Amino acid sequence: MIKPCIAKKEVTTHILKTFGIHTSKKLGQNFLIDENVVQQIVEAAAISATDTVLEIGPGIGTLTQGVAETQAEVVAVELDQRLITVLSKTLDGYDNVRVIHNDILKLDISAEIPNKTFKVVANLPYYITTPIIMNLLEHKLPIELLVTMVQKAVESAVIRCTVRKEPPVKVESEKRFFRVVRAAFAQRRKTLANGLKAAGITAENVNKILEEAGIDSMRRGETLSLDEFALVSNAWEKYQ
Ligand code: SAM
Repeated sequence: MIKPCIAKKEVTTHILKTFGIHTSKKLGQNFLIDENVVQQIVEAAAISATDTVLEIGPGIGTLTQGVAETQAEVVAVELDQRLITVLSKTLDGYDNVRVIHNDILKLDISAEIPNKTFKVVANLPYYITTPIIMNLLEHKLPIELLVTMVQKAVESAVIRCTVRKEPPVKVESEKRFFRVVRAAFAQRRKTLANGLKAAGITAENVNKILEEAGIDSMRRGETLSLDEFALVSNAWEKYQ
């Protein structure tokens, strides 16, 4: 099947005009118009015909088309109802693509892709990049690989994450572990002690936690290793 490539400025403009769509900033709608970026994402994810791929936020189908051309099975989840209508046209003929109208944060992904590992590709809406990635990881889904475009202010970057089968460190509470990491990075260039205080721990408990974990209170959060984050997280369990 020969379909026109969507990842071009004039094609994207034409599609949006045809369907009378004004992109929504609120939903982070910033569509790809560069074939090379689509190929870069598909190649970074090493997608082949035997893969199952979850795409988050297909938009008008730009990246979806690139993935679908590999013959992989694609499940694409889009929140904006207006784009569901567009996708039914732009992806018409790709029998390996299933579009789901839902919020990725509310969808039961394991019910949609049961009993198999899958890859995730996306050009994530910048306003919920972190919640989406955290949500995928916290649900312990059988994700092999995640490749996504992320916005860094005006620039963007493609990141590739391989999901480990087992966590590299043991923690008593994963939730608390991520709270420590968040506290450390929320206060960049400040000490971890200040970050933990800003996260609501009393100064007295912060001292006890860092002493228990064997971390110098003047260390900056971003200098800690995964093992050290785990030590802090486990010590926090004790001094709450
Ligand atoms: N993949 C397309 C591309 O690269 O051109 C569109 C990317 S655009 C940055 C993000 C897409 O995510 C938009 O289509 C937007 O409507 C959709 N979106 C935003 N929030 C969403 C959510 N919670 N669940 C599913 N899709 C969402």
